[in-house]
Amino acid sequence: MRITLPVGIILDGQRYREVEVGYLTGHALKSMRAAIGGRRPQGLDHYLDALKVGIKGIVGYEGTITPEIIKNMFWVDAEYILHSMAVMELEALRDIDPSVGEPTISRTCPSCGHTSDFPVDLAGRAVRMVEETKFGESSDFTIPFKLSQPIDWLDPEKTPYQEGRLGLHTVGDFLEIARRAARNVGEATLYSICRAIVELGPKGRGEIDPADLEPLPAVDIKRLERLYNDNEPGLLPLEPAECPNCGNEVNLNPIDYVLDFLLVSR
Ligand SMILES: [Zn+2]
Repeated sequence: MRITLPVGIILDGQRYREVEVGYLTGHALKSMRAAIGGRRPQGLDHYLDALKVGIKGIVGYEGTITPEIIKNMFWVDAEYILHSMAVMELEALRDIDPSVGEPTISRTCPSCGHTSDFPVDLAGRAVRMVEETKFGESSDFTIPFKLSQPIDWLDPEKTPYQEGRLGLHTVGDFLEIARRAARNVGEATLYSICRAIVELGPKGRGEIDPADLEPLPAVDIKRLERLYNDNEPGLLPLEPAECPNCGNEVNLNPIDYVLDFLLVSR
């Protein structure tokens, strides 16, 4: 199946927008299940395993698709590829057995503790292209931002800096954020913003440390978070569902495609 990526893969300064998506293979299923060892992911390398078979080809690109290329692509593109693989699995399943219903995801209600399965219209999920967001307004897909006040701890000369640019997370960023989130959500939040800042004073992509952001007013952290979340291209978050037991809202995001749709037999 050929899909158009929300952003595109940048290779040698060239942007590739179309990808040929492949089926999950028995071989990948085996190694991914081994990596997960149950329902909880121990490592997150199964995402890379899935993407390795999911990206059958980058249209117009003749070179080899290396693990480096996969790690450096934008996470929203990778997520869309995983999504497309899940849609393909579902279609293949329905070809064999037309009575297969919508896939479900299991969530525990935060109000009453009741666990339910919620159906998800996988194929109907909305996707937003980068051109529809502020990231699409610049050729390198970054958004300018200004802090509420200048900060002077980024270089030894104590130069005040107030402006920077926000970029999109790569697959490598996402995997490290997810690893940290499993240990400490607060730390992962700050780290996630660090990885999104591609320019601030003397620092470039990957050079901001969580310690650099800790002295910032919380209002700036929250503004950067909102700026990123409001403009992130790719699959749009699912609407909250209603708990069948108590009627309260249950958040269905994020969906773990690898676990919920690609690996589980149904
Ligand atoms: Zn409930």
